[in-house]
Amino acid sequence: MTAQLIDGNALSKTLRADVAQRAAALTARGHQPGLAVVLVGENPASEVYVRNKVKACQDNGLFSVMDRFPATLAENELLAHIAKLNADPSIHGILVQLPLPAHIDSHKVIEAIAPEKDVDGFHVANAGALMTGKPLFRPCTPYGVMKMFAAHDIDLKGANAVVIGRSNIVGKPMALLLLEAGATVTICHSKTRDLAKHTRDADVIVAAVGRRNILTADMVKPGATVIDVGMNRNDEGKLCGDVDFAGVKEVAGYITPVPGGVGPMTITMLLVNTIEAAERAAQA
Ligand code: NAP
Repeated sequence: MTAQLIDGNALSKTLRADVAQRAAALTARGHQPGLAVVLVGENPASEVYVRNKVKACQDNGLFSVMDRFPATLAENELLAHIAKLNADPSIHGILVQLPLPAHIDSHKVIEAIAPEKDVDGFHVANAGALMTGKPLFRPCTPYGVMKMFAAHDIDLKGANAVVIGRSNIVGKPMALLLLEAGATVTICHSKTRDLAKHTRDADVIVAAVGRRNILTADMVKPGATVIDVGMNRNDEGKLCGDVDFAGVKEVAGYITPVPGGVGPMTITMLLVNTIEAAERAAQA
C-alpha cells in the first residue's frame, strides 16, 4: 500500500473529546446541548443510524430525545411535532431521519425546521448561507470530509477537485466547501460523459454515488487524495464504499477506508453542529 490511510475513527475520537468538553462547559452554565431525532416508519437502516446518533449524544454529554412515529403518521402531525420542537428551549438541534414515507413531503418537513436548529444544514436558508460563503451549519458529511483534509494538512488551494455525485446532502455542499477552500471544482454525475477523463486530472476526488467500484486505480492520478463517501454492500454482504479500495490504495496519496472513514465523521459533525447551535443559543 502506498497511500496513507485517513482514519475517520481516530479523528472522530479527537473531535468527540472536544465536543464532550464543550458540552460539559455548556451544561455547567445550565445550557446542556439537546438534539431531537425524529424517526417515522420502520426502515431498518434508518433505525440503526438513529440509534447510533442518540448513543453518540449520550456518550458525549449531550441530551437527546428520540421521537418515533408509525409510518402512517400524517404530514400535518409531523409538522405540528416539529413546531413543538422549534419552540422547546431544551432542544438545540432537530434531525428528521430521511427517507420519510412517500405520503410526506420531505422538502416541506425540512423547511418547517427552524434554521437555527437545522443541524443537518438542509434547510433552504442554510443551503443559501453555505452558497454565499457564510454558513450557519455545514451539512455533516461534507463538513466531516473537510475536517479530514485539515487533519492531514491537505492543501486545497488551487487543487483540482472532482466530486462524483450531486445530491443536496453530499455532492453539492461538498463542492461548495471545496470551492470555498480555494479548489477548482468539477462536479460529475450520472450524465457525465467521461468520468475517468475528469478524475485522472484530479488532486482530490470525493466519491458520493452509492455504487461499488465507481472509481478504480486506472482513474486516479498517482498521489491524489481519495475520499470514499459511498456505502454499499459487497457480494458477501459486507459494508464497502464506491472506491475499489484494494486497487486505488496502491496509486493514491491518501485514502479513506469503508468502514472507518467518512461514516464515523458524519455522526461526529452532527454532534459538533449541535454544540455550535447550543453555544449560539446560550449566547443569545
Ligand atoms: P444520491 O442522492 O443517490 O446521489 C447519488 C449521486 O451519484 C447522484 O448525483 C447521481 O447522479 C450520481 N451517480 C449515479 N450513478 C453515477 C455514475 N455512474 N457516474 C457518476 N455519478 C453517478 O446519494 P447520496 O445521498 O448523495 O449518497 C451517496 C452515497 O453516499 C450513498 O452510498 C450513501 O449511502 C452514502 N452516504 C454516506 C454517508 C456517510 O456518512 N458515509 C452519508 C451520506 C451518504 P444524478 O444526479 O445524475 O442521478
